Amino acid sequence: MNTLTNRSKVVSNKKMNFWERIYLPAIFGGMGITFKHLFRKKTTVQYPEVKRPFSDIYRGRHVLKRDDEGRERCTACGLCAVACPAEAITMVAAERKPGEERLYREEKYASVYEINMLRCIFCGDCEEACPKEAIFLTPEIVRSEYERSKFFYGKDELVEPLDPKKRIDVSRRQTPEVIEFKKDKRYKHNK
Ligand code: SF4
Ligand code: SF4
Repeated sequence: MNTLTNRSKVVSNKKMNFWERIYLPAIFGGMGITFKHLFRKKTTVQYPEVKRPFSDIYRGRHVLKRDDEGRERCTACGLCAVACPAEAITMVAAERKPGEERLYREEKYASVYEINMLRCIFCGDCEEACPKEAIFLTPEIVRSEYERSKFFYGKDELVEPLDPKKRIDVSRRQTPEVIEFKKDKRYKHNK
């Protein structure tokens, strides 16, 4: 039967000749290919001493952003969790109390926000779904760990530092084209 690609080959059951039966030519042929690669430019790098440059649009671990006044932007609306195809995000919403206006921008905030980095496929859908510009993917890679529990990133890992000098720059994920694209996608999503 013809396949879609037409790349299938008919398997031959012809008898092996003497050289094929002793395997030596095939073994030396294979070693020759290995030897040839010894002199080629290596494609591996000695990580972590050497790091490859990442693409400008590389999507690594997430950050929950604060606004200019240092308040958490996330309003626990849950849109990121609904948009997540891997169901990696969970959160618990809480109501802002009087006196907490300097901590949280909206009247509702996430008292618990958690991303399971073992589930996450770094697709960026959470970032695109967020109406508050609260969650972004950063170029940072997720740390290697020996215990699964350490891949559950809570607010202590995700919310960016209060110190403005230590804020995480996400400007390359906020170019006018990206902002327009997100608006358009949200519009289509909500229609
Ligand atoms: S990047 Fe994708 S998979 Fe990861 S948490 Fe966001 S929506 Fe889910
Ligand atoms: S990160 Fe954005 S989308 Fe997710 S709960 Fe917070 S405000 Fe809503």
